Amino acid sequence: MRKQITAGNWKMHLTKDEAIDLVFQIKNAVKDSGKRPPEGVEMILIPPFPWLPMVSQAVHNVPGMHAGAQNCAHEEQGALTGEVSADMIASAGAQYVIIGHSERRQHFQESHDRLKEKTALALKYNLTPIFCCGENLKERNAGEENRVVEKQLTDSLFSLSKEEFSRVIIAYEPVWAIGTGKTATPEQAGQMHAFIRETIENHYGNNIARQVSLLYGGSCKPGNAKALFSQQHVDGGLIGGASLNAKDFTEIYFSLWEK
Ligand code: PEP
Repeated sequence: MRKQITAGNWKMHLTKDEAIDLVFQIKNAVKDSGKRPPEGVEMILIPPFPWLPMVSQAVHNVPGMHAGAQNCAHEEQGALTGEVSADMIASAGAQYVIIGHSERRQHFQESHDRLKEKTALALKYNLTPIFCCGENLKERNAGEENRVVEKQLTDSLFSLSKEEFSRVIIAYEPVWAIGTGKTATPEQAGQMHAFIRETIENHYGNNIARQVSLLYGGSCKPGNAKALFSQQHVDGGLIGGASLNAKDFTEIYFSLWEK
């Protein structure tokens, strides 16, 4: 059984008090439901670095809840002012790390090779990478979305061993849908996720392909989450804007419980 995941990427939002309040509200909403999350259904909170130890502590031992980081450095340690290593993230209590978000690719020029280095370090320190891929609007309009995504996966991930790759989560995030309010239709998401799984199968075989969780990201909201998650190969979502609102985020999370 693949894990079904709702991950909330808070990006560069929330002061310390706001972050504490959001975690408190999310935990309460889950508690108030009176139910335990079904086996294999998880929520990951992904705050800015300064709040990572606090959020990790807050979700420690809460069934189905985990913490993650938004990025990690491409080197283990050293003179890299402002960077945060995979080792530090793991020692802060996090279990996941986003690698290759389109905002990192765009604003920080993160190349396929750089993302390969980051993924390797995340795995070395037992973090689960949430590897983001996805085409921009020009590429989709040119019908190049499959080629673009295949190259992102091939160049950054496909030199991993089977064992390493089986520990990766992939988030398909069409760049044109991130923060724009324009969601991929369930059919578009379903087609791309099927293509990603097939691409993984061609490289690593059916057993690995079947067990890797594939998340959809891009303006996922309570109103469209159910339809997106109902697609056979969509195993949950990486949520940006809606993850800053406890009600919206937990509603998206609960829609995964019914899958
Ligand atoms: C994201 O940043 O990963 C994302 C999916 O953002 P949003 O949900 O706001 O489109």
